[in-house]
Order: sequence, then C-alpha cells, then structure tokens
Amino acid sequence: MAPISHGPLPACVEGFTRLQQPVTQIIDGSTMTGAADTQAAIEQPREDGLFSSNATTEDGAAEPDLAEAIASADPEAGLDAGPDNEAPEQEKALPVSAFAAFGLRQELLDGLAAIGFEEPSPIQKAAIPELMLGRDLVGQAQTGTGKTAAFGLPLLQRLDPGQRTPQVLVLTPTRELAMQVAEAFNSYAACMKGVKVLPIYGGADFRDQIQHLRRGVQIVVGTPGRVMDHMRQGTLDLSGLRSLVLDEADEMLRMGFIDDVKWVLEQLPAERQVVLFSATMPSEIRRISQNHLKDPAEVTIRQKAADGRRIRQRHLVVNGPQKLEALERVLEAEGSEGVIIFARTKAITLTVAESLEQHGYDVAVLNGDVPQTQRERTIERLRDGRVNVLVATDVAARGLDVDRIGLVINYDIPFDGEAYVHRIGRTGRAGRSGEAILFLTPRERRFLGGLERAVNQPIEVMEVPGNASINQHRLDRLRQKLTTTLQQPVCNPEERALLAEILQRVAQEQSCSPDQLALAALELGLGGKPLLLQGEERWGQSRSGTPTRDRDRDRERGGERRPFNDRHQERSEDGPEDNMERFRIEVGWRDRVKPGNIVGAIANESGLAGRSIGKIRIFDAHSTVDLPKGMPDDVFADLRRLRVMNKELQISRLGS
Ligand code: ADP
Ligand code: MG
Repeated sequence: MAPISHGPLPACVEGFTRLQQPVTQIIDGSTMTGAADTQAAIEQPREDGLFSSNATTEDGAAEPDLAEAIASADPEAGLDAGPDNEAPEQEKALPVSAFAAFGLRQELLDGLAAIGFEEPSPIQKAAIPELMLGRDLVGQAQTGTGKTAAFGLPLLQRLDPGQRTPQVLVLTPTRELAMQVAEAFNSYAACMKGVKVLPIYGGADFRDQIQHLRRGVQIVVGTPGRVMDHMRQGTLDLSGLRSLVLDEADEMLRMGFIDDVKWVLEQLPAERQVVLFSATMPSEIRRISQNHLKDPAEVTIRQKAADGRRIRQRHLVVNGPQKLEALERVLEAEGSEGVIIFARTKAITLTVAESLEQHGYDVAVLNGDVPQTQRERTIERLRDGRVNVLVATDVAARGLDVDRIGLVINYDIPFDGEAYVHRIGRTGRAGRSGEAILFLTPRERRFLGGLERAVNQPIEVMEVPGNASINQHRLDRLRQKLTTTLQQPVCNPEERALLAEILQRVAQEQSCSPDQLALAALELGLGGKPLLLQGEERWGQSRSGTPTRDRDRDRERGGERRPFNDRHQERSEDGPEDNMERFRIEVGWRDRVKPGNIVGAIANESGLAGRSIGKIRIFDAHSTVDLPKGMPDDVFADLRRLRVMNKELQISRLGS
C-alpha cells in the first residue's frame, strides 16, 4: 500500500510526527483497485520542489506499508508503534477490516464490510485521520480514487444523530453525482441508526424535498443551484451545519457554479469544517481554498504512471464524413461489454445513436435534453447491461461511475486535456483494464501532443479496423457464442427436446450428416445478416483517388452497403468453383442492392434454383455473381435486360 509520506520523513516515524508535520501530503495514488495491488512509490520532494515518483519502497512489502499507514492513521496507535513495531504481523493475522484502525465506529465498519471495502485507498488513508479531527482539507485526486468514502466515513463518524437539522452538506456539480454520493453515504451508514441522507437537485420535485427536510435530515447532498434555492426560501436550515464538502470543485467551476458555491460558503456558520476535492487546482479553486478554508490539510494523490497505463489509449485519424463508418468498424472490431462514446453536441449524440441503433446496438443517449428521471434509468440500464453503448456529451456523463465500461470512444475531440482525462476515466474503473480511442480529423492531429502531455504518456496510433480484422472478430465471436451456448443452453429442457426432435426429423427427411445440419443451424443463427465483409482487407485502401462522397453519404444514412457472401463460408478471394462461372452485374452498393435481391431476381428469370446460385459480392457500383457453367444464350439475354433495384443488370461474363 502507499505509505503516507510527510515530506522526506521516513514513513515509519510518521505515527509520531503526524500532527506536528507540515500539512502537505503527496501520495502516489492509484484508482481504487490499485489500492489493493499497488506496490506504491513514495513521492519525495526534490530540491527543485518538484516531485519525483520513482523512489519506491524496498521490495514492495505491501503489508507492512499498510500497517504503517494504519498506525499513522490512528493517533492512539502511534503511541506504542515504534519504528520496529510488530504491527505488520499482527495486522496480517487479524481478519479485522483495515478501516478499524482509523477508530471508526463499529456500525460503519459493518457497513463497509457489507459493501466489501477491505482496505482504504491512498486518499482515504491520508484524509480520514485529518477529517476525523475536524480539520479543513484540500484534496487533489482524479476520479476513481475513492474520495467519497474519504470524506463520507469521517463525517459520518462525527455525526450527531440527535441533531435534526443538517450537519453535513455536500455540493456536487451534477445531479448524477449528487445521487451517487447520497447512495454512497447510505451504504456506509447502512448499519447506523437514524441517519437520514437527502439528495437535492434541480428537476426533482421541490415540495417533496421540503417535506423530507422538515422531517429531519442530517446529510444533504445537492447541486449548488437547488441548494441555494432551498437556502433562500428558508427550507434548508444550515445554522447547525458542521461540515461542507465541495466535491469535484473544478467541475463546479467549469460548469459556472463557482459564484453559487462562494455564496453558499458565505452563508455558513463561522465554526464549520470545509473539505474541498478537485481533480485539478485552477487558480479560482486555490483562491476559494485560501479564502474559505482554515489551515487546511492538503492531500495530493498522484496517478501513478502504471495506473494510467491501465487504460490503453489510442487514436485514429479519420475524415469528418467517414467518422460514422469508422465508429461502427471500431465497435465491431474492438467492441467491449460497456462502451461510452463522447460527442461534442446533443445533435451529434442523436445522429450517432440512431446510426448505431440501426446496426443493432443497444444504445442510449445521455445529453442535457434528457430529463432527469430518464437519465437515472439510463445509467441503471448501462450498469446492468441492458444498454451496452452510451452516447453522451461531457456534461451529462461527468462523474459517471459505472464499473463495466471497457471502452471509451472520443468520437469528437475533447476541448482540453482535463476533459480528456475525465472522459477516459470512465473506463479502467474498479481495477479493470480499459481502452480509450480518440478520433481525430486530419486537422485535429495537432492537438494530440497536448492531450498526451495531459496524460503524460503517448497515445498510440491505430488504423480504422479493416475488413480482415472485423471478419476475424466476427468469426471469433461466433465461435465464442457457440461454445457458450453449448456449455450453458439458453432453452429449458422441454424446449431442447423439441429442438432435438426437429433436428432428427430434418436429418431424416434430407438424409444429411450432423455436420451439414449444424452448419445449416449456424447459418440460420446469422439471422440473415452477412457473416463476413467483402472487399479490400484494409479500410481506406480503395478510397484514395476514388470519388467516395456518394458512398459515404450513403453509409451515413445507414444504407445497406456491405458486400457479403450469403451462402459460402470460405473467406478465400479466389475465383469461382469448378462448375461455376463468374458474372458481373451493374448494380452495387450505391443502388442499395442486397444479395437477396440478386438471388431472387436471377432465380425468377433464369429458372435456376436459388441454391444453385453461387457466391455474390457487392462492390461500389457493380457486383459479381457465380452461376452454374453453361448458361443458355436466351437466358443470358433475358438476364441482361433484367432490372434489379431499378437498374438493368447488364450481365457480362467476367474475364471475357
Ligand atoms: P472518486 O470520488 O474519487 O471518483 P469514488 O468515491 O466514486 O471515487 O470511488 C470509486 C469506486 O471505488 C467506487 O465504486 C467505490 O465504491 C470504490 N471504492 C472506494 N473506496 C474503496 C475501497 N477502500 N475499497 C474498495 N473499493 C472502494
Ligand atoms: Mg467522486
């Protein structure tokens, strides 16, 4: 675990010196799960006042570090814990929650046990002891570092359940965050009696909130605007307030709430504790901390480089009009279980979501126009997997905490490095690895360097996935799905018995082998969708020099445009089979033709059975079709004049 370091002092003497030492703590932090697996580095000040993060503890003794941190977290423990204390061994032996060492009440420890927190994260280790003493605190840490419990636990510890007016007020930039923080408080306090937490935010019923406030609430979590409204109306009595938390202060600044925040600060009782958390420290926020906080403890959690690397970051360069198709390709080839796509405007979120929906994705939109109740439902659906892709604007997705996000796509470039960091922070949560892909137009390429500096690591280049990789992905996925279904059948036993009966019957009637039958079932499972993309292996190969505009526009409308092979599964690009001959027809993607149209028309006109029509490939303005050798001339003549999608086929023999 990350030891807490006060300047250059060795961590082991910290328990003695904590209160006398300068208040700044800089800790090499990590996101939550990092907490469990970090071999932490102590950040030691260099002469120039900068911090280097490469001084690591010897042999990464995680347990002793943790024990030291705990010893230092508890003022009592510090008295009998010397430099060679045996606490590490004892700690290891005891099944007691590492949180116990903070001196938290049993009900809180029980609550933590119920939600499965085992050990405090770096910011929790640093902040909880200070806040338990009632000190003001300024904390700088990225999202996902565990700030909520860092302030939630000590404030709950200090709560007076007897006092009926609000004792704790938490201001958050968004309604979603207010809800999340309120929920977190409730979960920590699940075993405490008589703790009432109320989230108040705009868009929810005002009178309802007033009633709750009247009945007595100790903890209020709200957005600045609505909190001010209640204060002005006299429905939120803050005369008994003990602690104010400004959560994600920089976000509140960015969203224009800073005057509201200052106003609230000015109305508070003189004797109160103020806690300010922010991912970055713009001068405005610094000033608030200087003007409104009293001798605050300062805690900075540095994202360790290794943690940043938990999120694999890549970028691709794509022309504006081709973004939508590039997006679909990225989703197909890189698709993960939960995806957030960031777009710049509400309008773009809608366009993107509509297009993805047409392609069969379970999509939801989160933008400023989405009413509150629906937003909550959307996030819930994302969380439980009913929605797999969320298309959002920055504001709407701020602070969103959903563990199952495996991929963040910056469909539009964020405005600055900070926004980029916030966006990609939606993935790689709870110890999982995450992927982030940034779309840049050729002109936006020049912003890449700035973003790389913001995350302090290179953002690798990638190509828009080509047909080859998408096809490989499709085959892999099919294999995976087949295996899963084999292991965990979807149907109940009776249904399966009926299915088996069908198989038996068809096998008998058609006298086919089990392999043939299985193959037919697999094809059936494709649901009429193409198995493979045809054409160039790499994306963009055929584009240079070709007038792609029409085609692109076509694609954006979501037109059917992918060539495929509807009956053969081999992926070879070879010529026709022995008994077949290849023909060219003058109808293609841009006419929105589907293989079914071609098969249907040819079968009708030529009298050929549909199944004897071979491989079909659809290209931009033409297609090819394999037909049995030896087509009679009159049939050929008829086919030439045959119209499909209102165009004459003009069929011709390839190679002739
Ligand atoms: P932040 O406010 O810094 O973005 P949160 O407080 O939202 O971070 O915490 C991020 C996630 O980590 C949440 O899902 C939270 O439940 C979880 N978490 C917080 N502290 C711990 C801990 N000590 N052990 C395990 N999980 C934790
Ligand atoms: Mg938070």
